[in-house]
Amino acid sequence: MTDFKRDGSHLAYCPPVEKWDDWVELDPEAWPRRVEKHYQLVPTVCFNCESACGLLAYVDKQTGQVSKFEGNPMHPASRGRLCAKGPATINQIHDPDRVLYPMKRNGPRGAGKWTRTSWDEVLETFGTRMRKAIQENRGEEIMYHVGRPGHDYIMDRTLQAWGIDGHNSHTNVCSSSARLGYLLWHYADRPSPDHANARFILLLSAHLESGHYFNPHAQRIIDGKMAGAKLAVMDPRLSNTASMADYWMPTYPGTEAAVLLAMAKVILDENRFDAKFVKTWTNWEDLEVDGYHAKGQSFEATIEALKKHYAQFTPQFAERESGAKAEVIVKIAREIATAGSRFASHLWRGSASGNLGGWQPARALMLLHVLTGSVGTEGGHNLNAWNKFIPKTFKTPPPQKRWNELLYPQEWPLCTHEMSFLLPHFLREGRGRIDSYFTRVFNPVWTYPDGFSWIEMLRDEEKVGLHAALTPTWSETAWFADYVLPMGFSSERHDLMSQESYAGKWIGFRQPVNRVLRERAGEKFEYTYQANPGEVWEEDEFWINLSWAIDPDGSMGIRQYFESPYHPGQKLTVDEYYGWIFDNSVPGLPETAKKEGLTPLEYMRKYGAYEITRDVYKQNEKPLSEGDLAGSRVEPNGVVTKDGKPVGVMIDDQPVVGYGTPSRKLELFSKTMADWKWPEFTLPEYYRSHIHCSAHAASLGQSPEDFDPHYMPVVEWPKDARGEVFTLLPIFRLPNLIHTRSGNAKFLYEISHKNPLWVNPVDAKKLGGIRTGDLMKVHTEIGYFVLHAWVTEGLMPGVVACSHHLGRWRVNKDDQVERMSSAWVDLKEVGKGQWKMRQLESVSPYDSRDPETKRVWWSDAGVHQDITFPVHPDPVSGMHCWHQMVRVEKAGPEDRYGDIFVDTNLSFAVYQRWKALARPAPGPGGLRRPLWIPRVVRPEESAYYIKSDATKK
Ligand code: SF4
Repeated sequence: MTDFKRDGSHLAYCPPVEKWDDWVELDPEAWPRRVEKHYQLVPTVCFNCESACGLLAYVDKQTGQVSKFEGNPMHPASRGRLCAKGPATINQIHDPDRVLYPMKRNGPRGAGKWTRTSWDEVLETFGTRMRKAIQENRGEEIMYHVGRPGHDYIMDRTLQAWGIDGHNSHTNVCSSSARLGYLLWHYADRPSPDHANARFILLLSAHLESGHYFNPHAQRIIDGKMAGAKLAVMDPRLSNTASMADYWMPTYPGTEAAVLLAMAKVILDENRFDAKFVKTWTNWEDLEVDGYHAKGQSFEATIEALKKHYAQFTPQFAERESGAKAEVIVKIAREIATAGSRFASHLWRGSASGNLGGWQPARALMLLHVLTGSVGTEGGHNLNAWNKFIPKTFKTPPPQKRWNELLYPQEWPLCTHEMSFLLPHFLREGRGRIDSYFTRVFNPVWTYPDGFSWIEMLRDEEKVGLHAALTPTWSETAWFADYVLPMGFSSERHDLMSQESYAGKWIGFRQPVNRVLRERAGEKFEYTYQANPGEVWEEDEFWINLSWAIDPDGSMGIRQYFESPYHPGQKLTVDEYYGWIFDNSVPGLPETAKKEGLTPLEYMRKYGAYEITRDVYKQNEKPLSEGDLAGSRVEPNGVVTKDGKPVGVMIDDQPVVGYGTPSRKLELFSKTMADWKWPEFTLPEYYRSHIHCSAHAASLGQSPEDFDPHYMPVVEWPKDARGEVFTLLPIFRLPNLIHTRSGNAKFLYEISHKNPLWVNPVDAKKLGGIRTGDLMKVHTEIGYFVLHAWVTEGLMPGVVACSHHLGRWRVNKDDQVERMSSAWVDLKEVGKGQWKMRQLESVSPYDSRDPETKRVWWSDAGVHQDITFPVHPDPVSGMHCWHQMVRVEKAGPEDRYGDIFVDTNLSFAVYQRWKALARPAPGPGGLRRPLWIPRVVRPEESAYYIKSDATKK
């Protein structure tokens, strides 16, 4: 693959930019006649995962309609390539079942009665209600809860302009554990691996196939492989990724840290580590371990202490724990050592999000990077903060003064993100209520564990006063809202995006294609919904207008942030918002645009993306600026401080930026963990997950020696649970499905619409000789689900697996969720908190304005498993630990495919057992959480203290 070039010449078959205004192709529908079709090509950005790849919308010049989406060759991260989900945007925008107008509930919540309403009515209703809440000092009762953000910064700014602590996210069911593992080392909470230049790549889980930053990373992993890099994959499942690897290491879930620490031991024992790097860039002098104190000791003595500490992690021990072969562990460790600074890796979900202690694999993986000196290097591990662009805007609201305990409760002071999946339990415990609730591209009833507890919360008007679901599609959650507000897909909205996709920094600009084209032709629109299908809007303009509705005369101090920076007192437009950012905040863009005679906004509208820099390596070595040095002092440990806060560190007698940690170095030893009541985890460690075999045994009433209830909650099975105990892997995804937004992408559902239970042949025998297609009943701690078996050697024994992103359901026969992707179900609460779901009818052909829905040939929508899982908050990271201990048996005569039962009383009890393992704040000085650890929409410092005046130092 030729590397990205700004003129697009790296892709021979992509339409060159100069032809985008009149691109000619032969009409495939006219074939074999050769009929020309003329298109205008408009760049935008895909919204179907976080990667933000560049799309080109092909607009038929005859009809003015978008005919297809392909890759934008001018996008530096995706380089003209897409995964299957990008082109499927065409299905989404033409979906016959999509929501086209704002809808208002007309009957009891969840009854499915709706009437069309106007945007003005929506703004007036919420504006009035929110103004009252803010004026009555009830700002915490306003909550914005996001699933797929798809934008950068604008929402943080909006919430701070409102002065509330109201940002909630999905991150604690997604990536919080991995983030904690990374940030304890270097403050940045995500890796940015330079796969393309690596010599050895280690992936934990199916990253190449479906993982984080899927397409941009996948193509660079292949670039790296084609240049000679070797690839190892640690995954219990033979994923597509594992099938492409040089080494597939199936490891028992939750034991990954043991394997990684065994590799670290090999590198340490064989003295193949980069001593200069470790000595210079880690805080080894702070190390305290097994009675050894490094202060005043030599580096060599400290390394010996480290070797002793990790002596227990022999490859043989790791093999016993994980099932991975000891000799393979040693071999890979040596390959990693040989790759040295060109060792890249990634870990995001899988091991991190499945397990109790899932933050430790990220910490252990980082230890390998530190030992090999592959941090900040070409071909190594870089930091997301170095590669991601964060915009600055014209008027920045101050941080909010308040702290919302529904978001960051005291039990989990080290959680990186909001404890969002516990919200129903928090409200059930009486910790608060929500007055105005905005869910945005967010479907917790279906994607979260314990979805029936969400239904119980959402239908209770005492707990949730008014709920607006901002969504491009119907969803199981929108059904329980008061308002369903249609928001645009990739080609119907503005957003600014940047991700850490490769060794470079870029921005992408999503834009509403029809509006852009019609404005180019001379029409003028006040709002994007006037140019979109129906009255589909975009959030940017919605929030601007809602802010004006809250504070119409500006007296609350809110409106000022939503006024034009160019025309004081006038309402901000999206052109002004993004135009200001592109003019003032993106280095190099104004100059590049000027060379083409364009304004920066025109440049972004023309190309859709811009590469800011490739100078991204070793940002820690950058000298401190004169501004930072002015008034600073050097502490005895070499940390440069200013106003009492670390800003840099002395390296070789030079003040440099370093990392964002308290020591400004990579923290091999975390004093934070000791200070916050976890002294046993000051170093990267391994401890057993809640689905370890000892926990299996404990759940059956046995007393295994290695089960420690201090760390692991005991599973209590429902009375009727029978069958063999297994670990269920529920968090892999078929690579062509989009969280909750593939339901209206018919091409994607045509490819994937079934999620059977993967069972190894060894286990199939143990289960009485089951075969593919047999009906199985899977019992969780709170209920069960019923699905078909798939007997396969693509999964290690002792584990069963089921992909998520399938099993959509609707309670009304003909609406609510797209019929091509959902089963019509009978949903009943049969006793207090006891919920039963049975499929009445699965997918079949149907009439709609899309003639292809009559040709739907598949008859399965899959089975919903997440709703049968209780919440499992990790006591340290707060992350939901997705893996489940389950009991599996053949289904009985009463059981039917797709049956689900859950008792939410049991789920509340499980929540309490896990909560009891946490070690709550306050921490030092009465803090709610460490000041140095990042927090989403960070409040002012005084809000960090539980009793700010009494305990503030
Ligand atoms: S990886 Fe696929 S879904 Fe994600 S942004 Fe790129 S094309 Fe879209």
